[in-house]
This record gives sequence, structure tokens and C-alpha cells, in this order.
Amino acid sequence: MLKGKIASEGHAVGKALCLEKETLSAEKESCENPKTCIKDFHDALDRSEKDLRSLRSKTAETLDEDHAEIFDAHLEMLRDVEIKGQVENMIENDSVQAAYAYEKVTNQYIDMFQEMEDEYFRARAADIADIQQRVLGYLLGKPVKDLSLLEDETIVVARDLTPSDTAGLDLNKVKGFVTEIGGRTSHTAIIARALGIPAVVGAKDALQNVKDGQTLYLDATTGEIHIDPNENLLQGAKKKATKEEKRKAALKKFADKPTKTKDDRSLPLFANLGSLKELVALKENGAEGVGLFRTEFLFMDTDSMPSRDEQVEAYRKVFETIQPVIVRTLDIGGDKELPYLTQDKEENPFLGHRAIRLTLEQKDLFKTQLQALLIAAKNQDDVRIMFPMVATTEELKAAKRVLAESADSLEDEGVDYQKNIKVGIMIEIPSAALNANELAKQCDFFSIGTNDLIQYTFAADRMNEKVAYLYRPYDPVLLRLIKTVIEGAHKEGIEVGVCGEIAGDLNAALLLAGMGIDELSMSPASVLEIRSALSEVTSNDLESLAKKALANAEIDEVEKLLEAFRKEHL
Ligand code: PEP
Ligand code: MG
Repeated sequence: MLKGKIASEGHAVGKALCLEKETLSAEKESCENPKTCIKDFHDALDRSEKDLRSLRSKTAETLDEDHAEIFDAHLEMLRDVEIKGQVENMIENDSVQAAYAYEKVTNQYIDMFQEMEDEYFRARAADIADIQQRVLGYLLGKPVKDLSLLEDETIVVARDLTPSDTAGLDLNKVKGFVTEIGGRTSHTAIIARALGIPAVVGAKDALQNVKDGQTLYLDATTGEIHIDPNENLLQGAKKKATKEEKRKAALKKFADKPTKTKDDRSLPLFANLGSLKELVALKENGAEGVGLFRTEFLFMDTDSMPSRDEQVEAYRKVFETIQPVIVRTLDIGGDKELPYLTQDKEENPFLGHRAIRLTLEQKDLFKTQLQALLIAAKNQDDVRIMFPMVATTEELKAAKRVLAESADSLEDEGVDYQKNIKVGIMIEIPSAALNANELAKQCDFFSIGTNDLIQYTFAADRMNEKVAYLYRPYDPVLLRLIKTVIEGAHKEGIEVGVCGEIAGDLNAALLLAGMGIDELSMSPASVLEIRSALSEVTSNDLESLAKKALANAEIDEVEKLLEAFRKEHL
């Protein structure tokens, strides 16, 4: 049995699929019979073509035609007659195996494209590399594993998962995730919760212990991963899963109700959005808006910078589905990289040139996004723009200047845009939390990002499971810092929400509600449970709970208070 940290609660049983990301490369080996080697090559091309066609139709089904068209380009490159001819010649003339010949020939194209000035052509290098790995996979007997082409119910085991790994995920077949690194606020954890898939992260050496195809029982209520479980355990797992389904079904009655306490205080429950795919879950779970639209996925899932028009289209899709929407501008850096944006290697990327710090320097990128947002927000009721990782008032002023310049350029171009847009910031750096009062004078709203706020306040890397014990949503020190932010915001008459993962933790949500938070934004899967709980308590109950919690010096005491509160009221 392996053990890790619970990232997304639930039970799952499935066949293990180990995602080990190695770049395949072929040794130079001679080919005795060129005809057979050429046939091997053609077989690999046919199998790759079949994959790409399935990926294309799955993408069209789950996302849209535009995303699916990427695979048309891949198919064209796969069938390129020039590449094919060169590989066949090399096999025949140099008597080398197909894998070696194919790698050599495609490498020449990759190098050639990489050296081109034009960004579009440079991005094609990544496309060819992608196809190369797929074809080599077949030739070397290590086929590429696609999370969108699965036959069995599957539990994915990986070191970590990036948004692009999970982009084409077959949601009918992927039942769980296990990763070796990461804590509750790592991006794998956030994605898993958004998709409602059980996940355990920080399961050390999982890839060494689990083999492809083994049956796994993932108990993401204890953090245990059972390898080849016995019949007893399997039966127990099935019972627990059924119970869970029943509980979820009972909560559905809250899906189309606004969130209110027993005495009618409203507390909107929004959802965090990380990709267009999650829009469905968001509606199904009755989110009352989007409190954090992480726009990174638009930039990370492609090989080149998305154009203004492409961005406008994606933003509109969201705004037309749900509102209010708080859109966060690009939060790149830390653990999130863009393949087409070269950044210097940093000693401490989480303390480095990320988010607003980076976009203030990459002005074209920033302006394109702001313009796209202003255009897409035209004629919409409630779209707000939020800047991430603001540490000082100067950064906020600088970001607002770029927003004004972006609007001016649209004016010059004669393009219609939203002229009255609310602008706010994430409070996720202690300096900003302590300066909430001043920052509030220059903002329309705040949203507290506790994932990073905890990381920076307790100096605990959110990706490092060894320091995950410092991630404590009910720590009175954190609560007091949050209280400072709420008071700072309210003094200036602006609203303040929480969009870090603690918002979706029932205990933390009760405390935040009692502290006077104006909105909570969480993974969609948590909305109904919290709405149901809030409907059973009064504002007075919540306020007195928060008051007592804030007066405590020790987290244990706060935990006891919460336990007693839930026993009494829920
Ligand atoms: C946060 O830091 O709390 C947050 C919501 O942002 P992210 O998790 O995307 O860094
Ligand atoms: Mg953050």
C-alpha cells in the first residue's frame, strides 16, 4: 500500500496507467532487410494516424472544432511525402532501422523550424517533435500514452500532471489520479477537484511501486492507494462509492438555489474555472458565478501565443455561459511555464519573475490579453478584471496604467469595448494583506488567494509534500491575516472574496462566512455541500464561531471549536 495526501476526496478503482515522461531516442542499429524495416515504418505511421484521428474527433466532441483542427495539421505533417521519402531512402541506402532513420530525418526539420524568425514556424517545431515521439513510440515498442484514448477505467499515476496532460482527458474513463509530488494546492490537485475526480498527491515513489495495468483502489478519503486489492477491499470500495453517489444526489436539490443562511444572509458561492471543459461541472453544481477564471490554460495548451481574436472567442464562451466572472490576468511563472516564452532560469521561481511582475514587463502580451478582455466584456453585465500577485501599490498603479493604455489603443483602432470594467487584485502576498487598507482605495474588489498567501506567510512551498504540514487553513495566524484584509476592504466599501482552495473546505468556509467574507469561490464539486451547510446555520452562529476562533492562539483549539460547532448545527 502507498500513502499520499488527499487532493480530491472520493473512492476509485481502476487499472493503473503510469505516465513516465521520457523523451524517446533510437540507437543506430542496422537493418538486415530494408523491406521489413520500411514496412515497420509504414505500420507505425498508420497506427499514429489512427491515434491522431481519434484525438481529433474526441477533441471536437469535448472541446470544439477549433481545437480539433490542431490535429489536422499534425496529420498533414505525419503524411508529409518528403519526410516519408527521405526516411525510406535512408533505410535503404544506409541499412539502418526505421526508428533511427525517422528520428534523424525529423530532427533536421525540427532544427530548421526552430531557427526560423517567424513565431508561427518556430511553433511547428514542437508539432513535429510531438509527432516524432508518437511514431518513435510505436517503432520502439513504447507507445505514447494518451489520456484521451483509454479503453479501461483508469487511474493515472504520474510524477505530476500539467494542464496540457489533462487537456484531452477521457472523463468517462479516468477515475483517479495519483502523483508523486504536490500538496493540496498543487495544480494537479486543483484540476482533480474541478473535475470531481478522486486524487492523492505526494505519494512518494508511486511510479516505482506501481506497474501499468495493475488494479488500484484509490481511497482518497484516507490517502491510501491499494495495489492489486483483495476481493474484500474491492467490495468495500464499491459500497463506499455508491454511498458517495447517493450523498451527491441528495445535495442536488441545492443546485438552483441561491446560497443563504437560515436567517437569509446571502453569501454567493462562485466556482473557480481552469478550462472551458470545466464549464459544465460549474453549471451542474449550481455555482453562482466564477470567482477566479484562471486564464493560463489558454496560453499553456498551445505552441504559440493565442491571438487577440482567439482570446476574445474563448472569453466570450465563458461570459455567455455564466456571470459574474472575475477574470485573472495571466499568472505565469512559478510552476507554470509557457513553451514559447523564454525565461531565465531562476533559483526561486515562486519568489521570482511571475504573474503581474512578468506581464508588466511583457507588455505586448499583457496588452493583448487586456484588450481581448475589454472587447469580450462589451455588453456583458458583470465581468471583472483581476491582477495576480500584486505586492505593492506601485505594481497596482502600473497594471492599471497598462489597462488604460490598452483601452486607448482600442479607441484609436475604433474597436468597441467595455468602458466600465471593475478592476481588483488577488491578495496572496503578505505585504498586500498587511497593506489591504491602502490597496483597497485603488481597487473595486479583492479576492484572497490563500494557496499562495499560506505559501508565502509560512514560507512553505506549495509543491513540496515535506512542508505540507504547514498548510493549515484554520491556523489563527492565517485567520487574523485574512481578517485584516476583510477589514481593510470593508473600510473602503469594497467587496472581498476568497478564491484559494480553503474556500471549498467546509470548516474554513464556516469561519470565513463568520468573519464577514462577501463571496467564496471554490472548485465546483464543493459548492453544494457548503450551500447545504450554510442553510442550516444563522449569521449569529457563524459570527460567534469566528470570534472565538480568532481569539485562540492554538490551531488545536480552533479545530475543537469547529468540531463542536458541526456537531451542534450540522
Ligand atoms: C491562490 O494563490 O490562492 C490562487 C487562487 O491562485 P493559484 O492557485 O492559481 O496560484
Ligand atoms: Mg496564486
